[in-house]
Amino acid sequence: MSDLAALARPEILELRPYRAAHYEEGLVRLNANETPWRPPGDESAAGLNHYPEARPATLTRCLAEFYGVAAEQVLVTRGSSEAIDLLIRCFCRPGLDDVIICPPTFGMYEVYAQLQGAGITAVPLDAQLDFELDVERIETAWTDRTKLVFVCSPNNPTGNRVATETIRDLANRLSGRGIVILDEAYAEFADADPTVELLDACDNVVVLRTLSKALGLAGIRCGAALAAPAVVDMIGCILPPYCYPTPSQDVALASLAPENRAEFRRRVELLRTERERLASGLTGLPCVDKVWPSEANFVLVRVDDPAGATERARNAGFLLRNFSWDRYTPNCLRITVGTPEQNDALLEALANQG
Ligand code: PMP
Repeated sequence: MSDLAALARPEILELRPYRAAHYEEGLVRLNANETPWRPPGDESAAGLNHYPEARPATLTRCLAEFYGVAAEQVLVTRGSSEAIDLLIRCFCRPGLDDVIICPPTFGMYEVYAQLQGAGITAVPLDAQLDFELDVERIETAWTDRTKLVFVCSPNNPTGNRVATETIRDLANRLSGRGIVILDEAYAEFADADPTVELLDACDNVVVLRTLSKALGLAGIRCGAALAAPAVVDMIGCILPPYCYPTPSQDVALASLAPENRAEFRRRVELLRTERERLASGLTGLPCVDKVWPSEANFVLVRVDDPAGATERARNAGFLLRNFSWDRYTPNCLRITVGTPEQNDALLEALANQG
């Protein structure tokens, strides 16, 4: 058994996946209890009366090309959130296995771990060092029960990117003992994207990607887990067949067509420029006492009065995320970068201490 398979729950390795109906081009499908006619208004290529492919093969190849990996390294998921859930269910036995999270970070790692009954150990990012990942402390906290560590880079809500060398170091230290889940939901906004380099170098790294952020497709729920084929096969066993809707596949494929990519890159560049402009505008405001550098499409700021600032933004028509409830981010707000006009209006609203 490979090192990776040895980490999985034994019941996953023994699972006999559901045998999905088999389709063949040119043959009438009387093997899946579908209706023979399309519903009114159906303009999909495949026909909405038919189940989608058990696994979306064309979209898998398209995402593989987009991310620069092999199709065998890609599992298409319903948003990257679903991939988090699949990984925890694959590797953590309820009441027996643990995950490590590094707060402040994306809240769904903890939620899915709780749902699975996995233990959760927090190894906080180093607030003194602008939320740097503490590899030494993660290794010290690792036990025989620990299976996964979630590393978010650029991190939500702090915006900082973890150096590629740091992630590689962590993966090497955990080789044979555990898996680094590298959540790169915001990678397109960052200065560097280590996806291919890390997947090539470390078989115990799983990269999570999503079309929800830079691609502007949050509404179609498309994400992917990129990993060694052995991991893709294991988590693919948990995902039910036919789960990826035909309309979402059609939209994802159309959006990722080569002729749309220049516009997508232009928008990312604009948001990156606006992020820096927003950050420097915020830095100059009397109510703001710290703005952390960000490589994502949001900035984290510490303010003197988070409720007041949130209210002023709301009165000007903007919702901000108040993170002051979190003990790791006291008095902090997370602000998503908007259009240039929106950013100007927000800065003006926050400048007005009223
Ligand atoms: N990871 C991070 C760090 C996120 O911030 C989010 C969404 N806010 C997700 C994953 C999940 O995104 P989705 O399910 O839309 O891919």
